[in-house]
Amino acid sequence: MVVSDEIAMDRDIPDTRNPECPHWQYPEDLPTTSVVIVFHNEGFSTLMRTVHSVIDRSPPQFLKEVLLVDDFSDKAALKEPLEDYISRWGSKVRLIRNKERAGLIRTRTTGAEEAKGEVVLFLDAHCEVNRNWLPPLLAPIYRDKYTMTVPVIDGVDHDTFEYRPVYGAGSNFRGIFEWGMLYKETELPPEIERSREHQSEPYKAPTHAGGLFAINREYFLSLGAYDPGLLVWGGENFELSFKVWQCGGSIEWVPCSRVGHVYRGFMPYNFGKLAEKKKGPLITINYKRVIETWFDDKYKEYFYTREPLARFLDMGDISKQLELKERLNCKSFHWFMENVAYDMLRKYPELPKNIHWGELRSAATSRCLDTMGHSAPSFMGVAHCHGFGNNQVSCSQVVEESAAGRLTCCMSSLVWL
Ligand code: UDP
Ligand code: MN
Repeated sequence: MVVSDEIAMDRDIPDTRNPECPHWQYPEDLPTTSVVIVFHNEGFSTLMRTVHSVIDRSPPQFLKEVLLVDDFSDKAALKEPLEDYISRWGSKVRLIRNKERAGLIRTRTTGAEEAKGEVVLFLDAHCEVNRNWLPPLLAPIYRDKYTMTVPVIDGVDHDTFEYRPVYGAGSNFRGIFEWGMLYKETELPPEIERSREHQSEPYKAPTHAGGLFAINREYFLSLGAYDPGLLVWGGENFELSFKVWQCGGSIEWVPCSRVGHVYRGFMPYNFGKLAEKKKGPLITINYKRVIETWFDDKYKEYFYTREPLARFLDMGDISKQLELKERLNCKSFHWFMENVAYDMLRKYPELPKNIHWGELRSAATSRCLDTMGHSAPSFMGVAHCHGFGNNQVSCSQVVEESAAGRLTCCMSSLVWL
């Protein structure tokens, strides 16, 4: 925040787009947009630089408003000083506040309900949008209102605030996930590469990182927005992606729209009272709701192989989600895997069932095998057995009749022993 406070609100940033991008033409009657920014105790200058960049770099005729939704922040700078500051923009920048902490997932839904534009475009509160970022995100929605669009996310360094391209203008990646529901990005599969004429044109993607995307507002609300049973943070990107794809829509990544995001070194807030209400790791509960709603039985097992403890977590009631899936006549997860995420099994093959799982304790020292928070197989350690699972859950699987078997660290990647 000290560094951010020293940097101009309207600074210039490098244009990281593919050089083809300035040559695309966009329709003149694109839909109007509400840029929705939810925030909880964010840095004042970082939040305001996000707004400045949106106002400065969006064609005004498409920008209906910037809607700030305060998720019950208690920092003084985000009270009157914030209201004073945004008054310079009149009704173009609106602020609404939650009466209690709702978490980012529910707060985004509130933003969509309140928004006045035809399209809602979500940004985190620590972004800087790049040159002509908006029309490329709106054009696919203009052509087909059941398409949601995702910009390419560049990095803004959390120590220096230097704006850096995530990768060169010529490369393209798309969002997938592995069976423990960790978000991953991977090169475009050859099936897509072959069908593309220009490196800078949008392409279909199974999922997205979560924070930054645009979607027709009525379409988003007709999908029930986010599952209201998802708490605070995590898994909502998958929930929306599966819902969109399986229920007739699509997701496109848009290389000509670049937005910088500060990837933080640590999570600067806790989950507050929301976490106390639920026992068990909240993010895993979110994942469980999502997979129990959208996966077919076969694929659910892959998740439980990676997260054996999840089977015992209380995910609450998902009957409304299952009803929605039924009512919208949504396709199976198998359809999604065959037609959209067809490259996923190449990277993350299906997992055999666990024969045993639990902590792996040394009889000699009574200490437990522990991933120490690292990704296996590069590093493993032993530590005091804490009994909470997490980094100390090991699983054994027989993969071939003749092989001795396989030991996996459920919480990270695979280790062969
Ligand atoms: N946020 C919120 N309520 C919360 C947690 C986060 O409104 O309980 C906001 C946060 O200020 C940010 C956005 O939600 O604008 C996404 O959160 P964050 O940037 O921490 O997620 P990450 O980028 O780390 O995935
Ligand atoms: Mn963020």
